[in-house]
Order: sequence, then C-alpha cells, then structure tokens
Amino acid sequence: MYADIVLPLAQPAYTYAIPEGMTLEAGDAVSVQFGLKKYYTGLVWRVHENPPAVKRVKRVVRKVYDRPLLDARQRALWEWIASYYLCTLGEVMRCALPSLIKPSAETDSQLLDDTFYPRTERYYALAASYADSAQLNETFDRFERRAPRLYEALLEVVSALENKPDGEVARRLLTADATPLQTLVKKGILTMTEHTPEVEYGTPQFRLPTLTPHQQEALAKLKADFKAGRTTALLHGITGSGKTEIYIHLIAEVLKEGGDVLLMVPEIALTAQLIERMERIFGSRVTAYHSRLTNHRRSETYLRLNRSLGGEFVVGVRSSIFLPLKRLQLIIVDEEHDASYKQAEPAPRYSARDVAVWMAHQTAGRTILGSATPSLESWLHAASGKYGKAKLTERYGDAELPKIYLSDTRRAAQRGERHGHFNKLLIDKIEATLARGEQVMLFQNRRGFAPYLECPQCGWTARCPHCNVTLSYHKVREQLVCHYCGHTEAAMVRCPSCKVVDLQPMGFGTEKIEEQISELFPEARVGRLDRDQLTSETAFNRIVDDFAAHRTDILVGTQMITKGFDFEDVSLVGVLNADNLLLNPDFRASERAFQLLQQVSGRAGRRRAGGEVVIQTADPAHPVLRQLLNDDFEQMARDQLAERQAYFYPPYARLTMVTLRHPQVQIVRRAAAELADRLRRDMGRRVLGPIAPPVDRIRGEYLMQLMLKVESGASRLKANELLREKLQQLQQLPDYKSVTISVNVDPQ
Ligand code: ADP
Ligand code: ZN
Ligand code: ZN
Repeated sequence: MYADIVLPLAQPAYTYAIPEGMTLEAGDAVSVQFGLKKYYTGLVWRVHENPPAVKRVKRVVRKVYDRPLLDARQRALWEWIASYYLCTLGEVMRCALPSLIKPSAETDSQLLDDTFYPRTERYYALAASYADSAQLNETFDRFERRAPRLYEALLEVVSALENKPDGEVARRLLTADATPLQTLVKKGILTMTEHTPEVEYGTPQFRLPTLTPHQQEALAKLKADFKAGRTTALLHGITGSGKTEIYIHLIAEVLKEGGDVLLMVPEIALTAQLIERMERIFGSRVTAYHSRLTNHRRSETYLRLNRSLGGEFVVGVRSSIFLPLKRLQLIIVDEEHDASYKQAEPAPRYSARDVAVWMAHQTAGRTILGSATPSLESWLHAASGKYGKAKLTERYGDAELPKIYLSDTRRAAQRGERHGHFNKLLIDKIEATLARGEQVMLFQNRRGFAPYLECPQCGWTARCPHCNVTLSYHKVREQLVCHYCGHTEAAMVRCPSCKVVDLQPMGFGTEKIEEQISELFPEARVGRLDRDQLTSETAFNRIVDDFAAHRTDILVGTQMITKGFDFEDVSLVGVLNADNLLLNPDFRASERAFQLLQQVSGRAGRRRAGGEVVIQTADPAHPVLRQLLNDDFEQMARDQLAERQAYFYPPYARLTMVTLRHPQVQIVRRAAAELADRLRRDMGRRVLGPIAPPVDRIRGEYLMQLMLKVESGASRLKANELLREKLQQLQQLPDYKSVTISVNVDPQ
C-alpha cells in the first residue's frame, strides 16, 4: 500500500510506501524522510495501491498521533483553498497546523522529541470483576484486618468513583500514596490508564441577556432567512446596537445541542474584554485562539478540539478557521469588513471571511457576517438576496450616536488656530472633556514619530537601503525603521548629504501626537497603543487596562484603538488627519476611510449621551466625509458601487494580483512582460500591466505586478487553471527560473 503525503513545503504531495503492519488513513500525521538529511511531519492525503514511477520508494517511518489530525470536511477545505488561492496543500498545512504538531528535524528521534503531545494524567478505575459488590466487600474485609494501607486506598478510590459517571478518577484527586495504588493495580483490583484530561462542561444553563424588541426582530429575521435555505446572512448593525448580544443567543442555541461554534474577530479586536464577556455567559466552554498565545497553547488547543465530542465555542482570529471543530454549525465573522481577515503574506493568501461563507455553503451550516459598516461585497450580496439580512439601527439603551464635527485644517492654519497637528476646535474639546473627568481617544493611522526625516536645505531623505521607501523616525528609540523589511539604524542629526543643517521630521505618527498632546496638556496622563507596543500580551493588556481603569486620560493610537474596546468614560474621539485615508491610491480607499472613521467614531459615548468626534481634514467637502456626517452608509455604498461598476472593479470583477520579484531589475521586467504576453493570448484585455508597484523594491528585490480582472460571473477555477499553466511555463524558461512569483487572489 502507498500513501500520498503532504509535507509543510511549497511542494506537491509525495508518495511513500506504507510498511507492513502499519495502518494509515487520510488525515493521519506521519514521520517521513524527505531529501537526505531531513525528517518532516507529513499528512496522509490518500491511501492507494499505485506504486510511484521512481526506483526506490521511501517508507513511512512512523505514525505520529493516535488519530487523524484532519477529517474529511477539513481536507475538502484545504483542497478548496489550494485551488481557489492557487497554492499547494503544503502551504495550507504550514498555516493551518500549529507549529509544534508539525515539527521537522534532522533525525526521526529528534522529530519525536520535538513533537508536542498534550499533558496526560493517570486515571484509576475498578477492575470489571470487582464491580460485583460481593467480591468487593470480601476484599474490603480481608484488607481491613491484614492490610490497612490497601484498605484506605481502595476505600478512597471506591468512594471517589461514586459520583463519577465515567467510572474513573484522576490520580490528582486522590490523597493515597503511590505504593498502595500500584499494589491494587498489580492485584488486579484496580485498573490504571493514562490519557489526556477531559474538560467537564456540565449541563448548559446559560444566562442569556434579554433582547430588546428590535434585537428580537433581527434575531428572528436571521433565523427565518436560514430556514428559508440561505447559508450566509449579514447582520448590519451600528456599533453598540447589540450585535454581540444577538450572537450570544445564536451561540447558546448551537451549544445546547452539542454543536460547535466559531466566533471570528480581527486579531487586534480579540481582547481580554471580549473573552471575559463571553466567559461570563459560557464559562469554561470558551476557547481563545490568537497569535499572542504560546505555540504550546495553540498546539494543545488544536489537539484537544480534535478529540472533542462537540459543544465547543472558539473565539479566534483568522487562522481559527482551520481548527478541527467537527460539529461546526455556526460561524460568526464579526467586523466582517476588516482587512485582517485576508492573509497577505505568505501563501495561502486566503480570506477567512470568504472561506467561512464557502464552508457554510458546503456543509449547509450557517455563517453570520456582522458589521456596522459591511464590505461592499457583502452588502451587495445581502441587497440582492443572495445572503440573508437583518439590520439594527439604534444603539442600546440611552446611548446616542456621537456628534461628528469636521474641522478644516487649512482654515485653522490661516487663522493661526493650529498648534502642532491640533486645530483649536479639537484642543478646546479635549480641554472640556478632561475638565468633566472623561476620557479622550486620538487616532492617527501611522505609528512612529514621523514617516520620514528630510533635510530642509538639500531635500535629502533617509531611505531604506533594501527597499524603495523612506525610513520612519522613532523618536523614543532614536531610530530609523523600515516598516517594510524591519531594517533599523540609529537616527542621524545632521544631514549626511550637505552636512550643513539638521534633519527635520516630516509628517507625523502616533509618537509625535503623544509628545504634542503631553505638551498641550501637561497634567493629563497619556497612553499610546500601536504595533510598537504589541511585543507582548502583557504590554498590550497593561496599556488597555490602564485606560479602561481610567489610570490614563488620553489614549493615542492607530487602527488598534478602533476595534473591540468598550470604554465607558470615553466621550471624545479625535481623528488627527482623515486626508491620508481618503487620498490612498486604492479603489477601496473611500470605502475603507468610511469604515475606519465610523468605527473610530463609534468609540465615543458608548454608554452615555453627548459623545463627540472631531475629524481634522483639509477637504471638509469630500463626499465620503459628508456621508459620514449624515451617517449615510447606504449612500456611500451606492456611490462607491456605481464607481466600481463603471471601472469594472470588485464586486463586479474578480481580481488576481501576480507579483514577480528578483534582485535584478532587467530580469524581473522581462519576466513580467513575457508572462503578460502569454496570458494575453488567452485572456486578452483581462490582463493589466505589468507595472512597477509604488514600492518597487523590497528587501533588495525589484518588483513587477500584473493584474487579472475577470468578470465575477466567470469561473474562477478555470481562470486559475490557465494562470497556473502559464506560471509553470514561465518558470521552465531558463532565464526566469530564479524569479519569485506570488499570486494573490482577491487582494484586499
Ligand atoms: P455591538 O456588538 O453591536 O457593538 P454590543 O452587543 O456590544 O453591541 O452592545 C453594546 C452595549 O450595550 C454592551 O455593553 C451590551 O452589554 C449592551 N447591550 C446591548 N443589548 C443589550 C441587551 N439586550 N440587554 C442588556 N445589555 C445590552
Ligand atoms: Zn526596508
Ligand atoms: Zn542636506
């Protein structure tokens, strides 16, 4: 017998022989040798009887876990991802399985050492022949007279078993010494087994919040849509309207029936606050899964879920879509518009939201997409009736929507009403808010102190030696940092080019805002949250906790402060500069700006009336800002969709971005032209480019890009086949063998 085995490499599956006496099935993990010096944990994809066309077939060394790591549903998912996103199963494997359950090593025994096995415990049970009470009583009598220590130990085990329905008791719950327990096992009175501890759930009695009539209506609508056969539904509800409360009701229903639930949230929105909120209702059912967990924890979680019999509730990020939830009946994608559901790098460049929609369709399960500002894709599908749809238009309780002010930065500058990056309006409002003892959040979508340093004399700027971008200035660390490749150098003072004057920081990031606000309000306690602080879970939590407990008054941050937080005392939100969101050269810029600004605004006045938002901009007449001011998502959506249709962009077209890279600019240019030519022969005007992207050199390699634009009705898989074929042809040409090519399907 042979097995096709997927290895965690960008390679096809390889066929290995299954040794006599070893039984394998699809999904099993095995240890195999690949190449001369390397052992990998691979996954059995298929077992068959066809010998491969090679002289010496390698044999599977060892089976790794006692049960398959993937079931049929997961294998179908991996195969779909590999074909839809144009990657190999090995690449899916790299991303889908936690690292400690798929180690590679130089020898098999080292691989065995490196493989994570969950903690096991000893369990004692009464041997079958002693279940009869006469036999047991006789033994007790005998021990009572002659072996008091055995008597004590046996008595303890028997009484502990009285309220254990599964007939076994964990060693850790017994006080008896090891020796008498061992003797009892030797005498055949007790049996001892070693296995992983089970989580005890008890009977599900969840205390659910009472829904308001509006929320009830939305819940009923979602259920009706599912009943009518739709597998995906959009819950479009403004921030604070109680989307989460509706999720809770749906989650409880599934858990009560022993089904599994997956609630996905964007990475940075998965906060302790959200987990605690879920734990208050679902207790120990809640399993968190995110990248700040240790590898150990993630591996343990995967293996535990793989043994579970259902009733699991995972709150996780993008990658939790790969967890082995065998009875998955409900997936909720919260903040479904969030770009972080799409993995940009490395392959598989999948969108967990789109995968969730596909999964519901596959298994006739249910997927809910929730958002205050849905992606235009989802909004259009809901409007056309492809998805179910429910709306929530009111905030819960007395909370009103915040009042939004657009503050003109140019006019403020003309009037001399601008201090640093703050208009007078924003300063006044901060002052009033602090005076009332309330809190302020300030948003700037750039970290660091300044995006670049420039010489006012000769115009020299500090640039990354490996990438075609400026280096960002981080003042606290006195460093220049490349946000593309991580290159870091000490910040210089004097211009290295003309050697005359000092360099000036240009533009501004969160660090500079933090510095200026501290100068403007020396009394205020200021915190800052951006990726620079994301180094550890504790650092992140400390900043959030300080703000939540009102130990800080002002929180400055990037995107990170816009999601998932519910701070009661925040009544003012300031956006320092909306223009760089609106002017982004991307067809999604307007949509994204609207989503982000509305999300930031949603942080103000969540619990009380009188929340305020000040948005600073040089262009207060911008249509998207007007739509935001009027809280008119629908108008924004219709405008943007009309534009997308006119210029043939998603959701009316499907995009695939092909990026080629090489250290030599001539080679990458020629390869890109060649590929474009070959694709045009079959796809004609659906091929755009090649062009050099705005940042056309990263990590010492030059980049060229091609874009494929295909009608959204056309077969994605057929277009993929064609592209796959052309890429293979290109890479067989000797000149272009060394060109790296990556494909991004549905780029975000
Ligand atoms: P969303 O997820 O739409 O932003 P949430 O579900 O977080 O909204 O609700 C906002 C706030 O209002 C939360 O603090 C929540 O506890 C409260 N809330 C919403 N609906 C209810 C309800 N039916 N009963 C009690 N509290 C509610
Ligand atoms: Zn760089
Ligand atoms: Zn200079």
